[in-house]
Amino acid sequence: MSDDSPRGQAALLGPAEVRTLAEEFGVRPTKQLGQNFVHDANTVRRIVSVAGVGRDDVVLEVGPGLGSLTLALLDVVDRVVAVEIDPKLAARLPETVAQRAPELAGNLDVVLQDAMKVMPDDLPVTPTALVANLPYNVAVPVLLHLFAEFPSLRTALVMVQAEVADRLAAQPGSKVYGVPSVKACFFGEVRRAGAVGRAVFWPVPQVESGLVRVDRYTEPPWPTDAEHRRRVFAAVDAAFAQRRKTLRAALSGWAGSAAEAERRLVAAGIEPSMRGEKLDAAAFVRLAATE
Ligand code: SAM
Repeated sequence: MSDDSPRGQAALLGPAEVRTLAEEFGVRPTKQLGQNFVHDANTVRRIVSVAGVGRDDVVLEVGPGLGSLTLALLDVVDRVVAVEIDPKLAARLPETVAQRAPELAGNLDVVLQDAMKVMPDDLPVTPTALVANLPYNVAVPVLLHLFAEFPSLRTALVMVQAEVADRLAAQPGSKVYGVPSVKACFFGEVRRAGAVGRAVFWPVPQVESGLVRVDRYTEPPWPTDAEHRRRVFAAVDAAFAQRRKTLRAALSGWAGSAAEAERRLVAAGIEPSMRGEKLDAAAFVRLAATE
């Protein structure tokens, strides 16, 4: 057995435990906060395994909820920091962990915060990996915010709505390639990492789920500072705002005129009659550099 295998010290949550905890805490899952709780030990073990995290990782978990994934993470890594927006859930999580994984309870920090706004100074530790069953309505902005603001994150394994997983991992030319695909690619290599059915959640969601893995570039092919990112993302947003139009037309507002859009596209080595859905992140970086 490798050092990074589960310790077997956490009693994971099954369907009965999830229902009992929710009842005890007076939790009524809300759609607004994307609250669908996993009640399947195999699913959370699989997520931790595909995340590839080990003892030395400091894992940032967004939306720990009742603690299903948190317990599986604590069973493998030495430190987890969980960011939860729901005060009731945030307050009860340490208790759940103390009961179900007493030896590991000291390895958890819970921070009551909105993951869309959380910054490194809000956390007591510096996270190296993001592992989360993300609230589906804000999954993409949360993922992009965390990669932008936490340069220490070298990898992410997130569960999101299957359609969003497809979009994040799409390649140029695919029908679902768009803003999330390019922006995620700006930070690292993105790939689908599995599918998850509806039956492992309570309440059962209306959509299928998928796993996505992002590995931050160890040697980024372009500058990743905030100013450069802002310029590249502005070009991406403009190109996809009217995705059926040619780039010359779609980027005319962004560049000031269609002629200027054409000049900049040509300067970046991009055919002006193409559509944005054919451009990879590197092409958007070249385009932004023509400013
Ligand atoms: N991780 C748990 C599981 O797998 O059972 C719960 C996942 S549930 C899909 C999403 C969780 O994210 C909920 O606990 C919800 O309260 C929390 N949440 C929703 N919006 C959030 C936000 N903006 N910041 C932090 N947590 C959020």
